[in-house]
Amino acid sequence: LDYAQEREQFGRPIGDFQAIQHKLADMHTEAEAARNLTYKSAWSVDHADGQLTKLASMAKEFASRTAVKNANECVQIHGGSGYVDDFDAERFYRDAKITQIYEGTTEIQKMIIARELQGKGF
Ligand SMILES: Cc1cc2nc3c(=O)[nH]c(=O)nc-3n(C[C@H](O)[C@H](O)[C@H](O)COP(=O)(O)OP(=O)(O)OC[C@H]3O[C@@H](n4cnc5c(N)ncnc54)[C@H](O)[C@@H]3O)c2cc1C
Repeated sequence: LDYAQEREQFGRPIGDFQAIQHKLADMHTEAEAARNLTYKSAWSVDHADGQLTKLASMAKEFASRTAVKNANECVQIHGGSGYVDDFDAERFYRDAKITQIYEGTTEIQKMIIARELQGKGF
């Protein structure tokens, strides 16, 4: 967000271009959705509603997917500077990617969600 407002191309901040604005809007919306899914699974712990296994896997899968997508868009918004190590963007991308692998890979989270939906348990 800061870089989009500082970096100028074609005589204006890149944050004035609609393509960049759409990225920022999607990133913010999806991060908020991931946060709310995480809070919903915490709510499920407190209320013992029987949905926790499914909700926790949904939160983990969606939040890690969102982290990777947002870190990728962060690199893109920084252009070449995002790819090299001038900024933290490339490190955020690597840090985000591991969340789709450890503590249950994306594929395994989806298996859990599907089995819970089908009433098969895991
Ligand atoms: C930096 C780092 C830190 C880690 N920290 C810890 C830690 O603190 N504690 C710990 O216990 N482990 C830790 N791990 C290990 C981590 O949990 C495993 O890497 C992870 O569980 C995936 O296992 P794997 O690497 O053997 O991949 P594999 O099991 O070989 O999986 C490879 C791919 O196949 C897919 N796959 C595997 N089985 C299935 C299936 N049945 N159906 C569909 N797809 C499948 C996976 O989703 C993945 O995409 C860490 C790993 C890293 C890289």
